[in-house]
Amino acid sequence: MKNVNSYLILVKKYFKKLKTELFAEVFLENYNNRNIYIRIDFFKKARVYKLSFIDLEHVESNDISVWVNSCNIEPNSIFLLESIFNNLKIQDTISKDSSYRVTINANTKNHVHLEFNRFLPLDLYSLTDFFIVIFNNCPKKYEGFFFELISLIIGNSNEFTYNDEIKFDILKTSLKKLFIDEDIKKGNDIYKEDLIKFLEKIENKYYAIIESVETYVVIIEYNEKENIMKVYSNCPCNFYCKHVAAIIIAIRDNFEKRFYKLTYDSKKNSFLEKLMHYKFFLCIGLQNEGLKILSKEGNIEIAPLFDINNKCPWSVIEDDNKKSLSKKIQTITLKNPLK
Ligand SMILES: [Zn+2]
Repeated sequence: MKNVNSYLILVKKYFKKLKTELFAEVFLENYNNRNIYIRIDFFKKARVYKLSFIDLEHVESNDISVWVNSCNIEPNSIFLLESIFNNLKIQDTISKDSSYRVTINANTKNHVHLEFNRFLPLDLYSLTDFFIVIFNNCPKKYEGFFFELISLIIGNSNEFTYNDEIKFDILKTSLKKLFIDEDIKKGNDIYKEDLIKFLEKIENKYYAIIESVETYVVIIEYNEKENIMKVYSNCPCNFYCKHVAAIIIAIRDNFEKRFYKLTYDSKKNSFLEKLMHYKFFLCIGLQNEGLKILSKEGNIEIAPLFDINNKCPWSVIEDDNKKSLSKKIQTITLKNPLK
């Protein structure tokens, strides 16, 4: 990784030279492995507000002007933002010990300095409008950051799909490129403590289930030729976390624990639509009279074992050595004669 901080200092110096008046700035630091610096300035000579953004990862020379992109901002947006900042209740730093940091500074009537990681805290929901203005004026590819930032507020932080592609050789690249030392250590513990209940590569994706406090799903889409990785997880951590580290450590150790595979015979069930469009379904076991199926969105869905006719429409096409799943299903089926 580049020396992001030294570039950030250069960027700030660059704006100082331009003699602009800083209105607000936001720094997405190590946010999903990216470092994006965005700011709104008042350009005194031209009497306009401009939003500028720079992806610090892509800076390749000290001539910052080449790497900064700017566009004019509607004065109305500035009034809106000003009132948001002036009415903001919390002005203290909300800092958590994480390297995945979002920092906001606003040079408004009451100076605002805020820090949080990954998700915009619920009590700061009024800042959603700030991010709307920011990301409306940024490239479309930054949209992912926006939805992730506000996902706690829109209530889907647990189902957040992480879509950013990163260059990472799943077998070779140093884990330190993505993970902090503590998460590598914890990831190793997760693997050693046998908490990875399933891990299997199907086509270009690794599917994994970790059973710790809760059941966590990790899916890693991997392009072997280009070494490009896309990670999904339903865990509540900051990316890239100990859960993802654990799975990569296990993959490097050639660990595999195959999923149960099932097919479904009856076609009239809408439940099917929610599930994976595969020739088969990935199953991690039973819960009462329901099958725990991994859906294509990466959620664990409970699928009823019996259909409306009280028949079991499921066929186990892959079981473990002890035929555990087939035996359990058989036991339940025997207890449930056709009604
Ligand atoms: Zn996690």
